[in-house]
Amino acid sequence: MALTGLNIFKLLPKTNCGECGVPTCMAFAMKLAAKNADLSACPYASEEAKKTIGAASKPPIRLVKIGPADAEVAVGNETVMFRHEKTFVHQTAIAVSFSDMQPLDELRHRTAEVREYCLERVGEKLRIDLALVENTTGAVDPFVAAVRAVAGGTGRGIILQSDGAEAMEAALKALAGQRPLIHAATMDNVEIFGALAKQYKAPMVASAATVEELASLTTKLAAMGIEDIVLEVPGENPAAVLQNNTILRKMALRSNFEPLGYPILNFAVGEDMASLVADASTFILKYASILVVDTLQYQALLPLMMLRQNIYTDPQKPIQVEPKVYPIGEPGSKSPVLVTTNFSLTYFLVSGEIENSGVPAHLAIIESEGMSVLTAWAAGKFSGAKVGTFIKASGIESQVATRRIIIPGYVAQISGELEEALPGWEVVVGPQEAADLGPFLKLQAAQ
Ligand code: SF4
Repeated sequence: MALTGLNIFKLLPKTNCGECGVPTCMAFAMKLAAKNADLSACPYASEEAKKTIGAASKPPIRLVKIGPADAEVAVGNETVMFRHEKTFVHQTAIAVSFSDMQPLDELRHRTAEVREYCLERVGEKLRIDLALVENTTGAVDPFVAAVRAVAGGTGRGIILQSDGAEAMEAALKALAGQRPLIHAATMDNVEIFGALAKQYKAPMVASAATVEELASLTTKLAAMGIEDIVLEVPGENPAAVLQNNTILRKMALRSNFEPLGYPILNFAVGEDMASLVADASTFILKYASILVVDTLQYQALLPLMMLRQNIYTDPQKPIQVEPKVYPIGEPGSKSPVLVTTNFSLTYFLVSGEIENSGVPAHLAIIESEGMSVLTAWAAGKFSGAKVGTFIKASGIESQVATRRIIIPGYVAQISGELEEALPGWEVVVGPQEAADLGPFLKLQAAQ
């Protein structure tokens, strides 16, 4: 039976020591009730609490960590089928595949590309998270050499893909302490691969042709004491993979079916770039925790990275920038002061347009809980009084000789209130769209 936050709180130590990562036992109890935390995060939980809370608070999809401490990737812990219900928690880890058939020179070149790949968007750095090494040769030595080269070259956690127990063990030895993900346990090798996962304390993919077979396989692995499992049901085509992913997620969340309560791994590979991107996008949306692609092409990775960022941004916590006055270009005492909200997308659009205009400016970013201009105004977070208070407290008045402030065209209605809040300032209503800022600023500068 599900326990309420209050029931859970009664069983916690109530010392509010904060070691679980939240400041109070009550806050931790609420997280446990929402299945957003694991009781093991509290080092002081009593045996009684472990017994009573343990099962009831266990996240329906286990959190699995992959890779070395300095490049650790966490997947799982999801609690909802659809993002709008609450939020998705751990974004899909994107992995790029390598083969031990590739010459070492080529591997070095490609690994450097993975390491250096970085797409900066709305203030976040989007990167490739993992690298998969396939034992295509079937031999031990080339596999180990490729694994070492890829791990060292990319600096990322590694997925080891091999059917051979000898090659797998040699690679696990080579990556001792780096928590590589073993791919994969099947019904045919479960004893030997399961034993390797236990011995090397490595997470492992369980792969089966059907959902039913997968449940039997994970039950066997759990009985062997293996907890960190990632699910794979390959499927004959993308539609079948999507269907399997959906069944796995539903079984975990709606039926609380423990044998399938793990994150999911999918592959999206092939020569046809459009199909690859379409398949990969589908899997990011539903419900890949790890996605392996075999390309580093810009036109494939760009849409995937952007889609992932959009889907995994918490809708209740929009990406925000720090509220303060930002110098754009090299503004002086005669440069204009513009004002907008701290919604990250708004900041980057507006600052980019100011920069492109060549007119240096002071850009005042108001605390507005990450909302866009109109939403913030409607919610009372972007009123004339609030902007006025911010400008006074920011210290910008001592940096500018001209008292002219430009507000977004969408909130022209706050101009009167702002004039009252900022005596001596001229309030100018700017354009509605950031794209029109360039000509507007040039015209203002010429006056
Ligand atoms: S670690 Fe345990 S005792 Fe400390 S605040 Fe968290 S729940 Fe309370």
